[in-house]
Amino acid sequence: MSKAAGIAAATAAALCGVFCAPLLMGTGQQSDSHAWEDACTPISSAVQVAEQAQATPTVAAGAQVIVPLNPQGAQKTVKWSQEQTNWANVITNTARSRGLPPRAAVIGVATAMQESGLRNINYGDRDSLGLFQQRPSQGWGTSAQVTDAVYASNSFYSRLVKVNKWQTRPLTQAAQSVQRSGLPTAYAKWEKAAGELVVKSWGKDAVLTTASGCSNVENAANASAVKASGTWALPVENSHISTPYKASGGLWSSGYHTGIDFPVPTGTRVQSVGTGTVVVAGWGGSYGNNVVIKMSDGRYTQYAHLSRITVSKGQKVTAREQIGLSGATGNVTGPHLHFEARTGPAYGTDFDPVGYLRSHGLSL
Ligand SMILES: [Zn+2]
Repeated sequence: MSKAAGIAAATAAALCGVFCAPLLMGTGQQSDSHAWEDACTPISSAVQVAEQAQATPTVAAGAQVIVPLNPQGAQKTVKWSQEQTNWANVITNTARSRGLPPRAAVIGVATAMQESGLRNINYGDRDSLGLFQQRPSQGWGTSAQVTDAVYASNSFYSRLVKVNKWQTRPLTQAAQSVQRSGLPTAYAKWEKAAGELVVKSWGKDAVLTTASGCSNVENAANASAVKASGTWALPVENSHISTPYKASGGLWSSGYHTGIDFPVPTGTRVQSVGTGTVVVAGWGGSYGNNVVIKMSDGRYTQYAHLSRITVSKGQKVTAREQIGLSGATGNVTGPHLHFEARTGPAYGTDFDPVGYLRSHGLSL
């Protein structure tokens, strides 16, 4: 690069928010529709902020979650069915339980809109299947796995987070790095629609911001701060609370519900919510098969009514590591996961599990 060009680039960096795209198109290279794509990311300090935030997550729970959008080109408007909205919820919840910022969910949902019309289909081009049209022959998993929406979403995110600067790249670039589609630019038109569904699914703290040009980079950098929750996860993916903490009733020996229930079918993967050490792994009377983990923050979490336990006492576990499969063992009326937060390892030391998980950045 000549000295003059270097100064021009520095000027472009300084004025990025307004001028970067036109300046880039003036480089003399063919300015096709991708010319803007790298305009901001390599030179913006916001990228460094984003990377720092990823490396050292520090943001408290309950903060506003910014969902940055930078739609490129004409955007599609579709009236989504309940079923399609539900798939968007699965994709969004999976991002959330992995501790990813909502930008990841926007990229995931937009990708599924393009690949499958946001439907978990059992057909596709060659051996492509499911929401993301992942191909078993290309290492994405078995047919059953790529049509399991949670599994498929997890696979998508596993690859997405390995894409350099995925948070601050244009959506179409990030999606294409994962999908290697024959029509890479086709993802762009779904960004706005995906953002709207993600915000609806994410909850009341999420705010959609539609930016233009490089200010999107700044927004994405801010959004990365919510990666605070990166080391924590919900105990089961894609579920909800059916019975809240301290619900009263005759069903419980203490007179109230000492945890929260997630209604999941027997055999659902149950995972540790964070890093810790297994202190109990076995039969727990009315809790059935249960696991208690001493967490890295000194608190304890309990997972009850399991059909199978896949860890043993003394074992170290990390967030999202499988500890067993859900079931209906012990004193239950049907299959579900009972989850408790405790100050000690034993029954009777329970405290509000929702507040506990939220304090670690999770939304529920
Ligand atoms: Zn329960």
